[in-house]
Amino acid sequence: MTSLYGLTPKQLSEVAESLGWPRFTGTQLTQWLYQPPFAEIQDMSNISKARRELLLSMFTLGRLSPKDSRVSRDGTRKYLFESPEDSAVFESVSIPDQQRHTLCLSSQSGCKRGCTFCMTARLGAGRNLSVGEILSQYQSIPEHAQISNIVFMGMGEPLDNLDNTVAALEILTKVCGLSTRRITVSTIGILPKLEQFLDATTVRLALSLHSPFPRERETFLPTEKLHPARDILALLRDRREDKRRRITIEYIPFAGLNDSPKHAHELVKILKGLMVRVNLIPWNAIPGTTLQSSDPRRVEAFRAELERGGVPATIRVSRGPDIEAACGMLAGERTPS
Ligand code: SF4
Repeated sequence: MTSLYGLTPKQLSEVAESLGWPRFTGTQLTQWLYQPPFAEIQDMSNISKARRELLLSMFTLGRLSPKDSRVSRDGTRKYLFESPEDSAVFESVSIPDQQRHTLCLSSQSGCKRGCTFCMTARLGAGRNLSVGEILSQYQSIPEHAQISNIVFMGMGEPLDNLDNTVAALEILTKVCGLSTRRITVSTIGILPKLEQFLDATTVRLALSLHSPFPRERETFLPTEKLHPARDILALLRDRREDKRRRITIEYIPFAGLNDSPKHAHELVKILKGLMVRVNLIPWNAIPGTTLQSSDPRRVEAFRAELERGGVPATIRVSRGPDIEAACGMLAGERTPS
């Protein structure tokens, strides 16, 4: 049976119309599905009993609850979800802070992009998450009401699941009421889907760069061969109408590889003409790679070099490494028993 949860307001109105009901019933469904108190079909009290029974005979609700959760020493909480249909797993990470409470969502179970520093890549291609699976990660967790910011930085490449990501963003911003300024989608940059994404939504963008040199970037992100950073940055530079969209460049400094002053200078050069800020991300070692995280003093020197070159740069505080919830560590594993 089809799930109602995950259908857009337009699709819910079409469901209502196809059953000979007023479009307004679609609006009522939208509210029950995506706004508190999040009713089950049988509890949608302003829809008649006969209509609820018809809906129950045709649809399931389809909102998933977490199967497992782990809490870090720093208060970060990682949730594991599992599809009842094919047992695909995916994770979200809830990160409380003094000023904000950020939720990091997954867009896929697994990922085909093969980035060498990423545990999700080890799962292989997996599959795209449905709109309902993306939204469940937000609306099914106990601290749902506290979430102030959402980042699509969990498992998967959101642009490889563009339609469902855009539909989920539409519901998050237009129905759940989250500001586009509080949502960031992180990508390694897939052309031409990036352009479609920029046309479809005004949420913030984070681009994973990790090296200003194409050959070296390719060793971290094999996708560089097909979707060169040079072309992605040119696209962002050309989109003058996007001046108000905040763009972050994500950069993981790896010891002795991409953390030298030469790299900082080249980064300043290739970012010329773009209103961006660089976020330097401390990396947590994963098994089976010789990569190592840069020394914090070297990361600070790199940051200072960028600032000297006129590029604002910050160093991200790593959250939840003890529960494999930090950057690059999500692999859909259950709590060890
Ligand atoms: S970093 Fe992102 S795009 Fe690269 S393999 Fe991991 S999930 Fe996929």
